[in-house]
Amino acid sequence: MADKISKEHRSWNMSRIRGKDTDIEKMVRSYLFSRGFRFRKNDKRYPGKPDVVLPKYKTVIFVNGCFWHHHKDCKIATTPKSNTEYWMEKFNRNIENDKRHRTELQEMGWHVITIWECELKDDFESTMRTVEEKIMKNV
Ligand SMILES: [Zn+2]
Repeated sequence: MADKISKEHRSWNMSRIRGKDTDIEKMVRSYLFSRGFRFRKNDKRYPGKPDVVLPKYKTVIFVNGCFWHHHKDCKIATTPKSNTEYWMEKFNRNIENDKRHRTELQEMGWHVITIWECELKDDFESTMRTVEEKIMKNV
């Protein structure tokens, strides 16, 4: 089993280095899977269609792109210079939706974890280790 994990992990690392398939949601899912977590993805039954649903841990995970979700004080979360008003409105709507979904999920008794794109890009391994610790607390 240990060997299997390291093998999956290696190929996962390689795909990152080659720069292919770097969709951050896929990376998070394949990491969690290789660590033995089983989950559902983009389950429509839950507010905001969380990217990862871990029923066993009563935990949902959102993997947020910093631009679209307008991550506060983040350098990726720029506002385009043209159609600024349109974008601001769009971002504000996304922020409001995120907030509402989070509250609704918490009211349903779910733990909500948000992972930001910039954290993953900055240090994937340590970000995911922290996420794993958070998940494990919710057993
Ligand atoms: Zn960010």
